[in-house]
Amino acid sequence: MVDIKEYIKSEKKKLKDAIDKAAPTKGRHPALGIIKVGINEASNRYVRNKAKDCNEVGIDTIIESLDDSACDEDLLNKMYQMNNDDKIDAYIVQMPLPHHINPYMVNAHIIPTKDADGFTNTPFANPATPYGIIDYLNENQYRFCNKNALVIGRSDIVGKPMAKALIERNCNVTVMHSKTSDENRIRAIQNADLIICAAGVPGLIKTTDFTERAKCDTIVFDVGINFDSNGKLIGDCEKDLPVAYQTPVPGGVGLLTRLRLLKNVVNLYLIDDSAKAHKMTNKEWLKEERK
Ligand code: NAD
Repeated sequence: MVDIKEYIKSEKKKLKDAIDKAAPTKGRHPALGIIKVGINEASNRYVRNKAKDCNEVGIDTIIESLDDSACDEDLLNKMYQMNNDDKIDAYIVQMPLPHHINPYMVNAHIIPTKDADGFTNTPFANPATPYGIIDYLNENQYRFCNKNALVIGRSDIVGKPMAKALIERNCNVTVMHSKTSDENRIRAIQNADLIICAAGVPGLIKTTDFTERAKCDTIVFDVGINFDSNGKLIGDCEKDLPVAYQTPVPGGVGLLTRLRLLKNVVNLYLIDDSAKAHKMTNKEWLKEERK
């Protein structure tokens, strides 16, 4: 498999070139809006990393922070401003949100042509983690057809869109979740060509899960982000599994996700402005919300 860091470097160069080529005609560089709610160390770090990535390829960032006491309506108002700001090509609402804010309203109210995370899954922008993985497999000329793919986790942002993307590429997909027994999970691991593990459970996939299996060419994407008792970042899989390739944590899927976010922003910047004509006044928008 191509070295992930080298791959990211070369893809960022392509994005920078595409922006440099388009900027004179567009009259400006692309801009990513980031809405942050509350004080959360993890989300502060994600925002810093995203701003750094954007800066490297020539995307401007506009960061709007709301304090912990912000309510649903405050966030909706901020989203409304971004939906209607012609100088912002795309934006994200940084997760996790404080518990009193309903995260589902984000997808319901972001204009798909500004959805940098790709959660609304349009031709312009796809869910960043699943498609970061798909892009990287494509780069490696991975042949998806008839491969046994195991997706562990069924969330709306990772597991489900991952499974869908693999089904669309003719994989034989098995999806597992918190109610799956150890026995069934281990049996599926034995039979998998491709494993995407996104459970947020450290040590869920173990070296011993592979002992009786015939396959040795399995590829494992470890999506999980967990912290051990020393505060060290770890994934869902034990290190050095007996497989053909396993993404490291850190330095694996996180980087692929960040790259895909940049690609989504650039795609949204490059699409025809008429596709972005959908606007609503604040009043109309809040009325829609209460229907
Ligand atoms: P989530 O909490 O919404 O979903 C977790 C899923 O895992 C659920 O569907 C649940 O059924 C399943 N699950 C939980 N315990 C399980 C078990 N014992 N066996 C099998 N399945 C089990 O989380 P999410 O947003 O999908 O994220 C999953 C993990 O990936 C988290 O650790 C998250 O931090 C990480 N993540 C990483 C990136 C990245 O860029 N690296 C991006 C998104 C999420």
